[in-house]
Amino acid sequence: MKLASIQAAEQKLMLNTYQRTPVLFVDGSGVTLRDEQGDDYLDLLSGIGVSALGYAHPAVEAAIATQSKKLLHTSNLFYHEHTAELALRLTEISGLDRVFFCNSGTEAWEAALKLARAHAGLLRAEGKRVGTRFLAVEQSFHGRTMGALATTHKEKYRAPFEPLMGGVEFVRFDDVADLRAKFHDAQAEPVCGICIEAVQGEGGVRPVSREFFQVARELCNSTGALLLADEIQSGLGRTGEWFAYQHYGILPDITTLAKPIANGLPMGAMLCTDEAARAFAPGMHGTTFGGGPLVCAVAIAVIDTMKQTNLLAHVRDVGGYFKQQLEGLGLRHDCITAVRGMGLMLGIELDSEELAKNAASEMMKQHIIVNRTSETVLRFLPPYILERAHVDRAIAALDGILTTLTLNSATLAGRVPAGEDSHG
Ligand SMILES: *Cc1c(COP(=O)(O)O)cnc(C)c1O
Repeated sequence: MKLASIQAAEQKLMLNTYQRTPVLFVDGSGVTLRDEQGDDYLDLLSGIGVSALGYAHPAVEAAIATQSKKLLHTSNLFYHEHTAELALRLTEISGLDRVFFCNSGTEAWEAALKLARAHAGLLRAEGKRVGTRFLAVEQSFHGRTMGALATTHKEKYRAPFEPLMGGVEFVRFDDVADLRAKFHDAQAEPVCGICIEAVQGEGGVRPVSREFFQVARELCNSTGALLLADEIQSGLGRTGEWFAYQHYGILPDITTLAKPIANGLPMGAMLCTDEAARAFAPGMHGTTFGGGPLVCAVAIAVIDTMKQTNLLAHVRDVGGYFKQQLEGLGLRHDCITAVRGMGLMLGIELDSEELAKNAASEMMKQHIIVNRTSETVLRFLPPYILERAHVDRAIAALDGILTTLTLNSATLAGRVPAGEDSHG
């Protein structure tokens, strides 16, 4: 079988960085992926929040086909016809002024960190009390490169690679007193930026509180430090607004995008205010591939399609329905301890890691793709084109699976004498 031979080859040839689920996808259409045997899967993950318009979307295919016949790459030494068109769209929907393009989420975040440090340098030269220290939030995830990793909270991701970039301090999630105390800490280096995900993704689908976000904005305003909102997962429509910060009525100084921006082609972007942007001059930052003609053409097609099909309203509608159904499930299953999220960025917290793991793998057996994050959270990041009927199918499957799994563990726990491992 093809999958088995690929698995064997990868085992020998690839770095051991991923624990892949043993499925070989070869095709896709809409919200459906197809494996080598012709079996279909309902995709509620969209490649970790990437394939927002689903698979084989005609507008994406057309943009790739058209641009592939012209130019794929020219480098940033020259102009091409799509950069400004895309930057205009992004500034219009974000409320920010300027754009830098790159190739991934972590790179967008690196650009944001560099800009914040450089901007602080400008302010210091102007006599302001701004330093080099970043505040980030516990359970945060900002990427895997050294700088982004330094602002990522999880010990398991960080520890093997230390020393990371210095000057980062973590604030307890939603703890306004901790945020104020660490921001104003007179013993420490002054702050140059506060790093926030409006809705933490890898951290377990946790929307930050209005108060915490607002206080972060005010603290930054008080010194000239920058508010950095990482929208790599939550941005570009995922939560039912173009940017999750728009639910809060807060405008950050910098935001970052990546995952869905080019519907699967690698692309990232950092957006910022004119004020922040003055810290970068030619040569201070750059990338060979970033913002090339192909990815820009596709990103334009993604945004225009979202506007033409009124997809934000659809995300709000189907996402609201999905959340309501999950909450209903929560009433029937004690093992669901929380339902969180906005739009089509949703998660349910289960009462054990084991249950979350088993539930995800049972869903996969029923050909529904979900993801487990933050140990105990089942996460749903489906394509924006998901319909209510797909939600119904997923909820029915999950209902049955949670019933079976909790029954089984209750039976097992009843049978196995205390002190022995009931999990075999
Ligand atoms: C995925 C993600 C990143 C990193 O993006 P990559 O493209 O994997 O480098 C950073 N921040 C958030 C919030 C993310 O979800």
